[in-house]
Amino acid sequence: MSISPRSTPVKTQKPTAKRAPPKVAAAKMAANLAAQPPQSAEAKIAMGWLHTAKFLTTAPELKHLPMLDFPEIAFVGRSNAGKSTCINTLTQINRLAFASKTPGRTQSINLFSLGKQGVTDAVLADLPGYGYAAVPKAAKYRWQQVMGNYLQTRDNLKGVVLLCDPRLGLTELDEILLDVIRPRVEEGLKFLVLLTKSDKLNKTEAAKALSIVRLQAGGGDVKLFSALKRQGVEEVAQHLWQWAHPPVKPEKADKEAKPKPEEDSGES
Ligand code: GDP
Repeated sequence: MSISPRSTPVKTQKPTAKRAPPKVAAAKMAANLAAQPPQSAEAKIAMGWLHTAKFLTTAPELKHLPMLDFPEIAFVGRSNAGKSTCINTLTQINRLAFASKTPGRTQSINLFSLGKQGVTDAVLADLPGYGYAAVPKAAKYRWQQVMGNYLQTRDNLKGVVLLCDPRLGLTELDEILLDVIRPRVEEGLKFLVLLTKSDKLNKTEAAKALSIVRLQAGGGDVKLFSALKRQGVEEVAQHLWQWAHPPVKPEKADKEAKPKPEEDSGES
């Protein structure tokens, strides 16, 4: 994986180190959820599907992951970008994804299975967060190896969701990641950038962050996302559902729908 210095990060306002106490944040999120308008049928299906998420396995690197045939959707992003919160919000399961805040601690790829009635039809992959200044060089190098390996060679990888704090914009490590997946995106890998914690931006800042990151992402799909305000939650859920359940190609559908000639004969 090559490192190429890139443009300066987008800075709309200084990130704050302060956090809402977990109980207050959870209560706010629950209140916001209750205030939501009714879901569309498609959103209900997608949210119900994501709610079936179950921890499948964890592995320190690609070679320890099971080979799977199901479409896999990877969540990647800098530490503190809001990745765990996003996964927990989409699946509506508190603490499904748990972020270790210990710099330098060995981080793993965590897989979660998805599927109604216990029948797995897709997998979510939570990849190690990156970008801790305090992480030793060796650990950074290891991260690059694990991520690069996974993103370049995981056969069943169907989509990548890149989480980005819009107050920091896409940083150099995010851009390295974009470079790594670009060839696969050109071959059909789905890709979405989520600008997290969008509740912290006013309208002007949000519009500015969207347009800058859209440029940086080379025209890729970029959306605002807030777990707190539930902005973009259902839309993203539907995206993931569609990635994992692509429409059947018309020719194939036709073949499946048309009765075979011998089935017609003898019936009348
Ligand atoms: P991770 O390291 O990428 O997994 O990030 P976390 O999910 O642990 O989130 C990092 C911090 O951002 C935590 O303090 C979260 O409470 C906060 N956070 C995550 N999502 C949101 C959001 O939508 N709005 C706000 N205001 N804070 C958020």
